[in-house]
Amino acid sequence: MMNRFFFILGLLFFLLPAGGMAQSLSVEDLRFGVHPDKKRLVLDLNKPTDFRSFVLTNPNRLVIDFPEFNWKPQTIDNISGSAVTGIRQGVLEPGISRIVLDLEKESQIYNAFLLPAKGNLKDRLVIDYGDVRDKANIDKRFGSLSVMQAPTPSKQALAIPKAPTPAKKTRTKKPIIIIDAGHGGVDPGAIGKGNIHEKMITLGIAQRLKSSLEATGRYKVIMTRADDRFIKLYDRVKIARRHEGSLFISIHADSVGRADVRGASIYTLSNKASDAQTAKLAARENRADLIGGVDLDVEDKEVADILLDLVRRDTQNQSRFFANTMVDSFNKSSIKLLDGPHRHAGFAVLKAPDIPSVLIETGFVSNPSEARRLTQRDYQEKIAQAITKGVDLYFDRLAKYSE
Ligand SMILES: [Zn+2]
Repeated sequence: MMNRFFFILGLLFFLLPAGGMAQSLSVEDLRFGVHPDKKRLVLDLNKPTDFRSFVLTNPNRLVIDFPEFNWKPQTIDNISGSAVTGIRQGVLEPGISRIVLDLEKESQIYNAFLLPAKGNLKDRLVIDYGDVRDKANIDKRFGSLSVMQAPTPSKQALAIPKAPTPAKKTRTKKPIIIIDAGHGGVDPGAIGKGNIHEKMITLGIAQRLKSSLEATGRYKVIMTRADDRFIKLYDRVKIARRHEGSLFISIHADSVGRADVRGASIYTLSNKASDAQTAKLAARENRADLIGGVDLDVEDKEVADILLDLVRRDTQNQSRFFANTMVDSFNKSSIKLLDGPHRHAGFAVLKAPDIPSVLIETGFVSNPSEARRLTQRDYQEKIAQAITKGVDLYFDRLAKYSE
């Protein structure tokens, strides 16, 4: 919802300065004049408008940007002697259209200016250009049309989801990491050998993770719970959204029927589970609300509304990217992972539509030795460090790919 909203806002931003939407811009005609000291291009317009013009080399071109326009010229007068070999036009990006004139040799714009309608003459854009006279100023841009300076994404960057940057978050602000210690209060989570409760392991790791993330100086950290209390799954999502989280990390520890299974794994949200085991895990984790006595009818409706949001698709890509950097970091920290450590299913707690979210099962409390280690300070610290490195890696990679 938010991304779409800003997209629409962006369109308005480009259209309104051009004189409102009542009358859209038209380029009515285009002609050339050849003079001893310069060539002159004149564009007839149906109304005054902002523009931007500059030359490009390799190949040599003259570019004119306008707010989106209707293109009306049928024939082009006097093109011989103009040094122009071709003319193309079309939409550059939503709200901006571009005219490109192919030039037979490197040229320079001497001046570009608007002339107001007068008598039989329409509003005009005049561009004087010709041979390069002042090489130092060849890159000069004329006009003041503001174009969103989105860098042209490389092929690699296209494959990688973009950084979450809703307009109301300024770039200078630190990313906000939401740490969600699974379960709590009346909901103990999985119960392992020696009466070890998942809710205490998750809180221990979450607290160490908070310290570790804050120690980097790069992040602001918000915890969904900092003590042993019950919080509904959907309320955890709401906390993350209220704080405008950049990332959501839910910490858990699993339990299965077999004592020999051990290792960590990373989960992202998906409508369809990656495998039957993960589907069962999601069902176990989603039961937290039932255990806490939450009215699921109301809850499901709210979640269903959120699921309608299309922004979720983009967020899911980012979540998967985040999960994969987390797997890399766990491998580097030599924390044992399950085979195929990144899996997905319908985890209710990962349903923030606009925040990349992962759920980390840090290990199995059904494995006696892993259960013991998960309660130990050193191992909790090791996991916290690995997650911190994964978060660092995520933001480093995003910065690299969005250059
Ligand atoms: Zn859990």
